[in-house]
Amino acid sequence: MSQTDPERVEQVRANLLDARSRIEAACTAAGRSPEEVSLIAVTKTHPASDVRILASLGVTDVGENRDQEAAPKAEATADLDLTWHFVGQLQSNKARSVARYADYVHSVDRAKLARALGKSAAEAGRELTCLVQVDLDEESRPGIIGPRGGVAPSDTLELADRIEEQDALSIGGVMAVAPLGGDPSAAFARLYEVACRLRDRYPRATVISAGMSGDLEAAVERGATHLRIGTALLGAR
Ligand SMILES: *Cc1c(COP(=O)(O)O)cnc(C)c1O
Repeated sequence: MSQTDPERVEQVRANLLDARSRIEAACTAAGRSPEEVSLIAVTKTHPASDVRILASLGVTDVGENRDQEAAPKAEATADLDLTWHFVGQLQSNKARSVARYADYVHSVDRAKLARALGKSAAEAGRELTCLVQVDLDEESRPGIIGPRGGVAPSDTLELADRIEEQDALSIGGVMAVAPLGGDPSAAFARLYEVACRLRDRYPRATVISAGMSGDLEAAVERGATHLRIGTALLGAR
């Protein structure tokens, strides 16, 4: 059983140590405390046995980007009491499934999705924390969702209001993926400004979900509170 494969455990343990030391070094460089930065292990394409290994090593937060894969994996590891983060683009017709296991949805990018999630979470008797996904492409325009998902920065507050209208949802902050080929540091600096404006209106909305395996240092430097790390922990997909 891969679940108890000692070599896999050692590999993931070493990767986790490496990732944690990268995060610590980035925090030191930025004058931040590592306690301000949470690690979300993105387990997409990797088996539920890897989720068990991560949990045995102290990881409490896991992320997935496709409901078809996430729903069975969350069910197979329900005994572990993990916090599940849905981080991928989400169709409204999948909201009902996601609302059953996710604790956080990072990728809310339109009012229709907020309504669908709100309705489904209420029906399931659950509460979801939602992040507004912001498109950091410099060309992003109000009212248009970019290729990597997300609203234009200027649409963020409006969508946060739509999320807060739903009794079963609360606005938790913002999320972004650095644009392909751009400077992640400049992009994450734009995200930080959006996050500050949002927090002025909703003081509880403190999450800044930014940074992946390749750009976590830039994200920490620019104030990220949650890093979504896949490859650096579990290897290539
Ligand atoms: C896959 C994924 C990640 C993790 O990316 P890595 O480069 O493997 O660390 C982070 N965020 C989102 C939205 C993803 O889809």
